[in-house]
Amino acid sequence: MMTIQTSNLGFPRLGRKREWKKAIESYWSKKITLDELNTTLTDLHKENLLLQKNYNLDSVPVGDFSLYDHILDTSLLFNIIPERFQGNPVNTDLLFDIARGNKENVASALIKWFNTNYHYIVPEWDNVEPKVNDNILLERFKYAQTLNVNAHPVIVGPITFVKLSKGGNQSFEEKVETLLPLYKQVLSELVEAGAEYIQIDEPILVTDESKDYEAITKKAYDYFSEAGLGEKLVIQTYFERVNLEFVNTLPVKGYGLDFVHDNGYNLAQIQSGYLDKDKAIYAGIIDGRNVWAADLEDKKQLIETLQEFTDELVIQPSSSLLHVPVSLDDEVLDEAIADGISFATEKLEELDALKRLFNDNDESKFNDLQERYTRFNKQDFKNAEYDFDSVRTARQSSFEDRRVAQQEVLNLPDLPTTTIGSFPQTQEVRKKRADWKNNRISDEAYREFLENEIARWIKIQEDIGLDVFVHGEFERNDMVEYFGERLQGFLVTKYGWVQSYGSRAVKPPIIYGDVKWTEPITVEETKYAQSLTDRPVKGMLTGPVTILNWSFERVDIPREQVQDQIALAINEEVLALEEAGIKVIQVDEPALREGLPLRSEYHEDYLKKAVHSFRLATSSVKDATQIHTHMCYSQFGQIIHAIRDLDADVISIETSRSHGDLIKDFEDITYDLGIGLGVYDIHSPRIPKEEEITTAIERALQNIDRSLFWVNPDCGLKTRKEEEVKEALTVLVDSVKKLRETNDPAPAK
Ligand code: GLN
Ligand code: ZN
Repeated sequence: MMTIQTSNLGFPRLGRKREWKKAIESYWSKKITLDELNTTLTDLHKENLLLQKNYNLDSVPVGDFSLYDHILDTSLLFNIIPERFQGNPVNTDLLFDIARGNKENVASALIKWFNTNYHYIVPEWDNVEPKVNDNILLERFKYAQTLNVNAHPVIVGPITFVKLSKGGNQSFEEKVETLLPLYKQVLSELVEAGAEYIQIDEPILVTDESKDYEAITKKAYDYFSEAGLGEKLVIQTYFERVNLEFVNTLPVKGYGLDFVHDNGYNLAQIQSGYLDKDKAIYAGIIDGRNVWAADLEDKKQLIETLQEFTDELVIQPSSSLLHVPVSLDDEVLDEAIADGISFATEKLEELDALKRLFNDNDESKFNDLQERYTRFNKQDFKNAEYDFDSVRTARQSSFEDRRVAQQEVLNLPDLPTTTIGSFPQTQEVRKKRADWKNNRISDEAYREFLENEIARWIKIQEDIGLDVFVHGEFERNDMVEYFGERLQGFLVTKYGWVQSYGSRAVKPPIIYGDVKWTEPITVEETKYAQSLTDRPVKGMLTGPVTILNWSFERVDIPREQVQDQIALAINEEVLALEEAGIKVIQVDEPALREGLPLRSEYHEDYLKKAVHSFRLATSSVKDATQIHTHMCYSQFGQIIHAIRDLDADVISIETSRSHGDLIKDFEDITYDLGIGLGVYDIHSPRIPKEEEITTAIERALQNIDRSLFWVNPDCGLKTRKEEEVKEALTVLVDSVKKLRETNDPAPAK
């Protein structure tokens, strides 16, 4: 039988214990010099390369490693420098300035990389002078050669790069054409230096819109082919399926296809004969975005199937391993659970096991891993029973009736004011939490600290004159991890970090089994806060859609079932809060929109299930209990019907950075539930002026019924300083007080 090869698309930069992050942040805070930074990072890069080599990979990626973001690296390579940063030498400091901003200039925008939680730096084309700067990719490639690592360079392709960028007067096509000769130069240099193939990432080809740029895509790759580079290029895609009939017309060596997140279409298209047999398939068969051990038996069959359709098969992860933690080795885990988990290095081991099986007839590793996989998947924590049908998915009464019942209890003024939940997570707050976690202070001491903080902030809210209070979320590290640590079925790791943007990493909990609520999670703090004041204190929970989207989710049962299990758990917590006398409960869903699938044909189904889960979590309360939700984005129009269907009594949305756009959405739709449009931007330390807030409210009231309107900042205040929060909220309340005085109850619209 034909032999197979193994490869990888990208390895996590962070290092096993976030050494990468620590080195970069030390440089930023001037604790180490640039030379020291370079030495540390070169060591780390070396470690990554050798580690991958040790897993017997036929080819190891270079160009995935970066000082911040690989898209930003590409921008610097081609001199696509934001206008305000032009004129400076293109070096590491410029790279960090563009990424983080400096005293004179704001940073470039960060945007989510497709449907992942990784953020790239958006290239800016205004008045740029594209040319090839120092070819760092070539340097890194040569470095890998000195280590005797068989490497292939990785670079984002021109279609994806331009599509993800902004600014400039040129058309999309013109920008691509400008870049083609520059790409040709860089690619040729790599080939001359001995690259056997170059992985050119074009994930944009998996999107709905890719059909709009087939002509320019074809033109670009024909150009490379005419330059003699075609045989050296592998067009790499991931996260969804491509239109293979089109992709197959691109004259390159082979195509990288995702066989995990393609909804089955990539294989189906191959089986329908859309791929020429002399094209290599770089088959993404091991899930690069989730942490589960693969079912190798299943993968073996997939390989056998693919072998019928190509003369050259390379197996690899479905995407870069940037999206998973580095290694299980540092975790102390229950063996029953460890059996089922696979981080980046373990995924490379799976590839090796398959290669040994196919090429050497060596079954030992394969059998060993498969046995562990089977053992994990047979366990009891995956077989709980749920009675979904006994939980309400609709409130007892209509919004109009609930509103009356709620007003009787809450007695809120015109234009009620509130905040989104968190108050400043100061150094002290974080230190106390860490001290408590590491047993340096007792439970009692920690509790006392939290109570003091809560009491202090209840008093502050009273002094400012807000209407609905919050307790401040001082006990929480992260809005998902906090619940993950307290619900059954979740595993919170110690080193399971994943890069989110720049040096920032998140540690998504792993949902390994059935999710169950076992005891109250937030009741103690909320009840304590409520005991200190007559004003209503809002209970604060994270919703099922967001918890799922920001966790590593199990895949052995349908996604919607996992989401509904979480919803039932949140429902228990909602009822526990209500039982404890809490009259307003907010269930945050900031991740609802970003979880939309890449292909629009799946949007409605996703939204329907999201709405169902949210309602499962929130519908069991009494009419008089007011349910709030909060979301952190604008671009509301596209999913407004789903948001309306959540049937939350009040929604607060982040809008101040794009106020105009959101108000426009409201010209076309009627939103007939309670709504608070964020009236100032919490991401900036700047204290808003009273007129600004007044204007924002008045503008909103042109399209929204005053009796439904709430006034609040646009997101949680955890990143702000105490003084900033006090001042800004005082301005907000002052503005509302004046508006109340002048209120002539004119009918809206
Ligand atoms: N309640 C959370 C907070 O205030 C909401 C955070 C968010 O929207 N991402 O911090
Ligand atoms: Zn928010």
